[in-house]
Amino acid sequence: MAVAVDQSAQTEEEQSTRLSIIGMRCAGCVKTVENAIKGVTGVKSVVVNFADHTAVVEGEVDPAKLREALQEVGYDAALMESFEDLEAQERMEEERYQTLLRKSAAAGAWGIPLMVGGWLDLWPPIGTPQGSDFWAIVSLITFGVMYYAGGHFFSGAVKSLRGGSANMDALIAMGTGAAWLYSTIVIDFAEVLPPEATHPYFEAAVIIIAFVTLGGALETRARGRASSAIRKLIGLQPRTARVVRNGQEIDVPIEEVGVDEIIRVRPGEKIPVDGVIVDGHSSVDESMLTGESIPVEKSEGDEVIGGTVNLRGSFLMKATHIGKDTVLSHIIESVRQAQSSKPAIGRMVDQIAAVFVPVVVGIAALTFLAWWSFGPEPSLGYAFVTSMTVLVIACPCALGLATPISIMVAVGRAAQSGILIRNGDALQTAGRITTVVLDKTGTVTEGKPRVTSIYPRTGWTEEVILQLAASIEAGSEHPLAGAIVSEAQQRSLEMKPVSGFEAVTGKGVKANMDGQQVLFGNAALMESEGIEIRDVLDQLDNFAEQGQTPMILVLDKKVAGIISVADIIKNDSKQAISELKEMGVRVWMVTGDNEKTAQAIAREAGIDQVRAQVLPDDKANVVRELQAKGEIVGMVGDGINDAPALAQANVGFAIGTGTDIAIESGDVVIMQGSLLKVPEAMKLSRATVRNIKQNLLGAFIYNVSAIPVAAGMLYPFFGILLNPMIAGAAMAMSSVTVVTNANRLRYLKL
Ligand code: ADP
Ligand code: MG
Repeated sequence: MAVAVDQSAQTEEEQSTRLSIIGMRCAGCVKTVENAIKGVTGVKSVVVNFADHTAVVEGEVDPAKLREALQEVGYDAALMESFEDLEAQERMEEERYQTLLRKSAAAGAWGIPLMVGGWLDLWPPIGTPQGSDFWAIVSLITFGVMYYAGGHFFSGAVKSLRGGSANMDALIAMGTGAAWLYSTIVIDFAEVLPPEATHPYFEAAVIIIAFVTLGGALETRARGRASSAIRKLIGLQPRTARVVRNGQEIDVPIEEVGVDEIIRVRPGEKIPVDGVIVDGHSSVDESMLTGESIPVEKSEGDEVIGGTVNLRGSFLMKATHIGKDTVLSHIIESVRQAQSSKPAIGRMVDQIAAVFVPVVVGIAALTFLAWWSFGPEPSLGYAFVTSMTVLVIACPCALGLATPISIMVAVGRAAQSGILIRNGDALQTAGRITTVVLDKTGTVTEGKPRVTSIYPRTGWTEEVILQLAASIEAGSEHPLAGAIVSEAQQRSLEMKPVSGFEAVTGKGVKANMDGQQVLFGNAALMESEGIEIRDVLDQLDNFAEQGQTPMILVLDKKVAGIISVADIIKNDSKQAISELKEMGVRVWMVTGDNEKTAQAIAREAGIDQVRAQVLPDDKANVVRELQAKGEIVGMVGDGINDAPALAQANVGFAIGTGTDIAIESGDVVIMQGSLLKVPEAMKLSRATVRNIKQNLLGAFIYNVSAIPVAAGMLYPFFGILLNPMIAGAAMAMSSVTVVTNANRLRYLKL
């Protein structure tokens, strides 16, 4: 019995390790984490995603070493492989959320009474005997509260500085630490300082910690929601299967199912792995993968996909793909990769965020010096408050989150509608497409052609024509060949032996039969073979004008007849094309089929521009030509013979059907053949880019406008100074706002 032995071999060649990084708090962390991981032997490359706090490491590495390296710079990591790991990660996030809430509450419980008492003048003034005792105790308790509630900022700051970079922790630690130190000095030296300068900032220190920690907690929550799509996909993976072994049905863990094993699927059950039905029939709900809500009827010989749900019948299936080879695994992998990929816009922002912290420290220092030298008395007090406020408000958290969090939500949202976006750049570009090029067969049309008429010339019969054509087409895998062969089978015609079979791409087929040469294909084939077809031109045109594809059968250089095949237009192609046009997109169709057929199909589908008789390899040239005219081209094709064109296009949409989802080609994979997914993907792209821009603009305005205010630039004109506690609240809210805004994409109607 074949058991899943080849799985280990696969994991060996994959060599990519996925880690959940614990303790990432700011965009500045990305660089630190990346550098730490890069330093581990065996690491080829690493991508750190700040939105879901993961790192994907390529290369042959020991996970324990990675963990050590991360711990050295102040982080920790957990390996992410299976569902269990994901659950563990969720538990960790939940714990983290609870801890942060507790810390924030503790800091608030001490800071708020301290602040309110100050407003109400309840506390004894500094410099009086009761005052110095009172404030000494306050200083001690504040230290304790900061140690408990804000300790992670300080340890994080120290470790990041040791790792050679400064992160957000450093800003918060410097701001609040300085507040405590300054206040403690003030109360000890009250006698020697001018009375106006003797103001303590204990409450500011703890309230800033309370706000920033609360922000962290809320962000953890919102981020959890943002990554719900991938969790749903992983949750689709069944844990067990009911296999038939030695005539008995037994339940086994999914990892033990082997290729070719026979599996029983009962009504209401999830289909465990990919396979083919070998006995029985049923209808299957595939909506979780394809976004198509109508159940699909399946019977013997049909493919079923692991993770979809069997509705009513019971059937036996043979496993064809298991483990990492299943469609669902590919989808999960693809979504994960796309979610952590950074489009151009994100890469730029990361670089800005990385230099932000040192720049902010510089600005804070300048602020301090400026107030100290030119500020009103007590200049030291002013210098201190303003520089602390700058440190606290300027954290580029929101800036760093703005792009990845929107990408993560959008990619997940797309997957739920059966659209697999494979990289961030495709997501960014799709909405800017100006021309969509559609392949005809299988894209605009069903791709399941059927024989509609047979036209024998004098001396021939329908049967013989079909028999000869089918005999040579038996060797071809073109959809047109399938139509001919199945028609012959339906009429119970016997196939004749052929030799010297040759397929001529985009033209037809040739072979030898009983010592005679047989040709079957389009006019272009006949022209290149030097066959005179003038006598049947009218007949050919007649078929073509009805949108059919006529093929000529030639025996011994003489035309024997024509077989005409029709491929119906998919029922929603027309709507999709009109939607694209409404969005201001030009729609082209390219096909290897003849001009008249192409025109007829285009007319029916509502397409204005057609390029017919294009050989498969030239489709990429058509795309290139359009690009040369300045168009941003989206190519939609089946991903197999259209691969070069898909690759050439700015965004390639590969149309998939069932288990053959063509995941490797195309920037976007449409899991179920409807063209409607193309305008949907474009709308999602537009909404996502808008969302990212809102986030970036918000974060940028926040950072850029808040820093001068925090530095006190409004003071000379309006007497306005920013309270450092308000700065802490604003800083915390800015990231929460960004994450919340990104989460709106989850509810986008497409
Ligand atoms: P499309 O661009 O629509 O996918 P192809 O480039 O595969 O089409 O084929 C173009 C044309 O070449 C077909 O319309 C048909 O006339 C001819 N042709 C290709 N393969 C075959 C075949 N196996 N038998 C007969 N005709 C064929
Ligand atoms: Mg094709």
